[in-house]
Amino acid sequence: MGDSAPQQEAPVERPELDAPPSKQPPPFGRRLGSDEFAVHENFPMKVESPSVRLGRRGRAHYYPDVSDADWNDWRWQFRHRVTTLDELVRRLPSVGADRAAREQVLADFRMGITPYYLSLVDADDPDDPVLRQVAPLFEEHLYRAVGEEDPLAEEKFSPVPGITHRYPDRVLMVLSNNCAIYCRYCTRKRTMYEGATADVEIDRMVDYIARTPSVRDVVVSGGDPLNFATAKLDAILTKLRAIPHLEIIRIGTRVPVALPQRIDDELCEMLARHHPLWINVHFNHPRELTADAARACDKLSRAGIPLNNQAVLLKGVNDDVATIKALCHGLMKMRVRPYYLYQCDPVRGAEHFRTTVAKGLEIIEGLRGHTSGLAIPTYVIDAPGGGGKIPIQPQYLLDYDREKGRALVRNYQGNVYEYVEPRGAHDEVLVPTPSKESAPVRLAGSNGKSAETPATSNGNGNGNGNGNGKNGHGDERVVGKSKWVHRGSTRSERAARFEKPKG
Ligand code: SF4
Repeated sequence: MGDSAPQQEAPVERPELDAPPSKQPPPFGRRLGSDEFAVHENFPMKVESPSVRLGRRGRAHYYPDVSDADWNDWRWQFRHRVTTLDELVRRLPSVGADRAAREQVLADFRMGITPYYLSLVDADDPDDPVLRQVAPLFEEHLYRAVGEEDPLAEEKFSPVPGITHRYPDRVLMVLSNNCAIYCRYCTRKRTMYEGATADVEIDRMVDYIARTPSVRDVVVSGGDPLNFATAKLDAILTKLRAIPHLEIIRIGTRVPVALPQRIDDELCEMLARHHPLWINVHFNHPRELTADAARACDKLSRAGIPLNNQAVLLKGVNDDVATIKALCHGLMKMRVRPYYLYQCDPVRGAEHFRTTVAKGLEIIEGLRGHTSGLAIPTYVIDAPGGGGKIPIQPQYLLDYDREKGRALVRNYQGNVYEYVEPRGAHDEVLVPTPSKESAPVRLAGSNGKSAETPATSNGNGNGNGNGNGKNGHGDERVVGKSKWVHRGSTRSERAARFEKPKG
């Protein structure tokens, strides 16, 4: 052996170190090429600008003889609501068609349109998106038997009349059956014919909240609470505020949309005495974002009240990306956060307003990445039968392999990326296994010594004390009365996670 050529050392197998560079995992992930993953079929996505009609509308068209004093007085606006078809036709002759059918639907659900809200309607557009929300339509007659009286089962979850208690920590309190305008798609239209809510009933609702300590948040809604006289609403809010466990009061209102004159200094000062108080407003279309509405929202904001918008996705009103985008951008300028975009509930007589879920997803898809996340509402389906709000969103997570610690995600442009989870995120999962022998212990401190050693940590009595949180064998440690097993894996196993995705 002496002359022979020096023998080469047998190569040491170091798979995790010797792997070719291309197989090394990227540090945090990477963008995948189109040969690795199909780019989403919806891309590139086109968003049209909303078309703006400049038809006849405004106070000068509908109410040319009304004085400023009357127009700006919310009581005048309320008293002069359009409630009959005769009056609506007189101001808006196009509504005269299909008169018999429209009269019939008014027998099912009453009409109420403030002069201010009517002034937003384009008199030359028979399909005007503002008008569709409040005027009886022929389609409503067609579908008058379709849908449910109480699609969200509010009555089923009602421990006392007027209260819906669906979630553990919050309740809905319906204060009245009276609104500035009556929306044809209203989920609660079944209640709009009941007489005014008696004080004793309101007291019963307050009493329920007072004796239910789990309730920390109440949504006061309607009918519209801001239709109450300021002093009366003050008295109700004062009773609610006296309940120690009630933290948050929220008011749901369409008054800033339909009767912005109502938001006066006296009301704002009163509301500010009941903080923390939030207001959910309900704008559905950018045409509703007028200077008067902006002024009303500004007053509420200056009273320290955070404003969130709850829009309803309505066919023929706002069921396109451009309209919702314009709405959300306008709301942001008014310091109103777009909060929810509701799928229209299957309420009786509103079938013509309902859209597909695909339409809602298309709208969210058209917003995400194309505008600030703050301007994107959460799209929700309020589950029929009382299941509560369920958020729906387009699929951005294409694949998630928990074992391999890898997620495939796509962005708003349809580009697909691989996101790699922290090394060992799943390897180092500590799995509790019952261990009768082990006594409670504290883990090793920084000085490498355990403050308290287990009586028997692994059955051999060597205890802890190696400073790495393990028991000396490097594979398990004991915490409390459970034995925690360290499920490790080799680097080569981890490297295998980053192989090219198939398909
Ligand atoms: S304002 Fe609200 S409660 Fe009143 S009719 Fe419209 S949606 Fe229903």
